[in-house]
Amino acid sequence: MIINVAIDGPSGAGKSTVARAAAQKLGYIYVDTGALYRTVGLNAIRKGFATDNADEVMKSLEGITVELKFSDGAQRVVLNGEDVSDYIRTPEVSMAASNVSAVPGVRAFLFDLQRDIAKNNSCIMDGRDIGTVVLPDAEVKIFLTASAEIRAKRRYDELIAKGSDVEYKDVYEDLIKRDYNDSHRETAPLKPAEDSVFIDSSDFDFEQTVEKVISVIEEKTK
Ligand code: C5P
Repeated sequence: MIINVAIDGPSGAGKSTVARAAAQKLGYIYVDTGALYRTVGLNAIRKGFATDNADEVMKSLEGITVELKFSDGAQRVVLNGEDVSDYIRTPEVSMAASNVSAVPGVRAFLFDLQRDIAKNNSCIMDGRDIGTVVLPDAEVKIFLTASAEIRAKRRYDELIAKGSDVEYKDVYEDLIKRDYNDSHRETAPLKPAEDSVFIDSSDFDFEQTVEKVISVIEEKTK
């Protein structure tokens, strides 16, 4: 039997690391849908289109292909045949992703890809609208969040660990701006699905959050 788990929440709530670990423990695939919006954002930047202009964003989609590949449980995102997974984590691409994700045509463009993966695989899929729009019938829906300060600190530590030269203040301000964009857009705004389980990870460490997520999944699927 195929089980779909939707995990939504704001940027930096730890969704991806927690979902990846939980998926590994349960033998499900982990699908990071943010990578898809990041890839569309990267494509627009590379082609010189303004990511905050809906018409230009739609033009940037012409003729492109975006695919997800899974090898040893790890997701790779492929743009026009090129694996771009290593180029989509910069602050510039984060903001571009937030911008392009507000364009309904972009959401429509990525919809079937996400739906098809979930139809054919037990998976934990994370994003902003998975429980509300992409997989409204998911067996388990979780809304994972944490305070803005803690989320910014986690994102900052992650970027520093990767060798990026960033300031905490800029990471915090970007996050607040993305939170606002993501929850105020007209199409598929970030909000908890009515039937989701709310988890605030502010006072949990990573292991505790993974345990909590797994216990919710086991409870809902037993
Ligand atoms: O999750 P991540 O931070 O990688 O997502 C990048 C951006 O993509 C988010 O700020 C959000 O605007 C957008 N996104 C979305 N819907 C999703 C996943 C991500 O709008 N399902």
